[in-house]
Parts: sequence; C-alpha cells; structure tokens
Amino acid sequence: METRRIAARNVLLGRGELLHNGVVTIAQDGTVVAIENITDEQAKREGVELHEGFLCAGFVNAHTHSELAFLDGLFLPGGSMAAFLRQIDALRVQFDPDTIRAAQAKGYETFAKEGIVAYADISNDASTAYFKKNETFRSVSFVEMFGVNATLGEAAYKVGEEVLATYRAQGVEAYMTPHATYSVSDRLWKLMQAQLEASPIFSLHYAETSQEIDFLERKAGAIYDLFHRDWGRAVEAYGLKDMESTLAYYGGLGKHILLVHCVALSPVMLDFVKASCPQVTMVPCPESNLFIEGRLADYNLLRASGVRLAVGTDSLSSSPTLSILKQLEVVNAYYPNIPIAELLEWATINGAEGCLFDGLGALKIGAHPGLNLVLAPEWEQGSLHRACVHPVATQTALLN
Ligand SMILES: [Zn+2]
Repeated sequence: METRRIAARNVLLGRGELLHNGVVTIAQDGTVVAIENITDEQAKREGVELHEGFLCAGFVNAHTHSELAFLDGLFLPGGSMAAFLRQIDALRVQFDPDTIRAAQAKGYETFAKEGIVAYADISNDASTAYFKKNETFRSVSFVEMFGVNATLGEAAYKVGEEVLATYRAQGVEAYMTPHATYSVSDRLWKLMQAQLEASPIFSLHYAETSQEIDFLERKAGAIYDLFHRDWGRAVEAYGLKDMESTLAYYGGLGKHILLVHCVALSPVMLDFVKASCPQVTMVPCPESNLFIEGRLADYNLLRASGVRLAVGTDSLSSSPTLSILKQLEVVNAYYPNIPIAELLEWATINGAEGCLFDGLGALKIGAHPGLNLVLAPEWEQGSLHRACVHPVATQTALLN
C-alpha cells in the first residue's frame, strides 16, 4: 500500500506528548503507519520536507450549529445576549430550503478545508440529517430544547421528540439537550429527564454572558427584561442554585457534559462544576464570544482549575468563521502565555474525549484520527500569527 511521509518541527501525539522533529507515515486509508524522529540531515537525504510548525490529529469542533450556516453575516455584534436575541426575533428574511441546504453544504466544505474531522452539532430541526447519514465526518447531534415557561416547554418537547426520532431513524447519533440556563423551564427539565438519563452526553450553553449571570443570580437584567417585560412571557427558568443542583445530578451519574462558552463563569461557579461534574468539558467559542460579549473566557482561570478545555466555532450567526485554527489564533493573540501545543490539545484530544469521539484526537500507530499540518511561521516565538492548516488525511483517506 502506498504511503506518505510528512515531517514537522513539532508532532503533537497526545496530551502532553510532543515529539520534536518528527515524521509521520500515513497510509492511503488514513491509518497512521509509523511515527519516528528525524534529523534535518535525514530529512534532506530521504527527500522529506521538515515543515516549520505542527503535525497533529484532525480537529474536533466541540460546538457548532451546522444547520444555521445560512445566517452568515446577518447580525451585528455587541450588546450581549439580549441584543442578539432581539436581532434573531426581528429577522424577517425568508430562506427557501435550497438556500439553506447550499449554505449548510458550504459549511461542511469549510470544516473539511479547516482540518475538522468531527463535530458536536446543535440541531433544532432535522434539516442536516440528509448530510449526516452519509458523511465522512464523525458527529454527534444534540437536539436542542428550549422553552422559558411550562407551555412553551411542552410544545418544544413534542417537536424535539420528532426531530430526535428522525435522526435516529436515519442512523445518525443524536441526543436531546437543553439550550441554556435562562431558556429551559423546570417543566422542560423534568420532561427531558428520562432522555438525559439515557444519554451518555449532553451540551448546555453556560455562562455565556454577564446578562445570563444577572438572570441566574437575581432574576433580573437585560435577558430577564426581554423575556418578561418585552415579550410578556412567564419566566420559569432556574436560578443558579437549581441550575447547579441539576448539573450536579447529571454529573453524579457520570454524564459527559459540554458546558459551552463559560465566558462569565465566576471562580465559585467553576469550582462547583469542577467538583460535581467529573466528566465536564468547557467549550468556549472565541470568535463568537468576542461577537456577543466582547470578551473571551478567562483562560488563565480555566487552565488553573485543571478542567478539560475544548473549543468550538459556534455558528455563522455569531462567528465570522467555521475555522477551529482561527479560534486558537484568537486565544493566542490574547493569551500568548498558553503554549501552542496546549491550544492544539484543546482542538484535538480534549475535544475528542469531551465529545466521546473514541479513536480521534491523538496520533497513534494503527489509528486513523485524521492528520493536520499547521504551518505557523512564528511558532518559535509562541505565535499563531499567519498560521494556516493543511489537512493531510481524514479519518478514511490520505489527501492530495
Ligand atoms: Zn451555540
């Protein structure tokens, strides 16, 4: 079988395993055949180019909404969550199914170009099932439930059950999932309980904005006013205590929980989650976080806690790109103290473990986790400035 050898100054094998001057041999079907050290001299002699940058497993996008690719560029940044929700509510543009499907297809093409091999996807409908049933990506779909009071919750649950059944009938891995702290009523949490208990994993938008913290801690602030005063809804969503005891319940059952964003997480909230949910993964989406909240998660705080950190692109409604490398570049620009190899761990092994994507995220002989060459001309200075990703292999094939 024909193989390809590719070498780089840094080869990220797995968590904390960085091989300097390494060469990876990969087969036509994407299987990793060999991983060795190589010197400059050897590389020259053997005609292998030693690239300035990193080789790593294919990227895992631990939070996206692939169905929403058609909302590209429609909304304005700033004003936090209430302003974003207002813009969604005010949107009067009609999209026909062909436009939606074409935008989704373009989104999946971007995933491939950006070296993404797997993704955790929020779904409000089954409009992506046609793609997922035949895709070469690995994916998990989270059928998202929201309803801020009992009536809305019951209606949403019925629709959700149908969407879930549609996915599963087509062999797509899918689970129910709550939307966010401020949008799920007590009644809806109870309706979902059997589903969540039966699933190995769920995802939750958590501590995305300081407005959400106002809502959780005081039942006040811009999100509360929007729901209660402007939209005239009875708000029956949880406060922080109820929210945390719900997380602790599922955490205690050993569920993998993806807490998405965590921008406005306080040290106390972080400690609670860390202690009560052993299989939690925090999934900030840097470009989206800048768009909505104008700031990033406190990565120094998150790193110091030892919590598992992954990364997501979110959707094109709030993120300018669907590039995982771009998310890392943003974090690198704000936090140059975080080693590039560690950022790449968020995008590979941590995402794979957090999303339960077995066999992905690490370069091991016999595995086929995809292979990315990340060219970062200034990596020696710890910079991802002008970095770009060249996918070398997917899970099933060597590329070019
Ligand atoms: Zn999201």
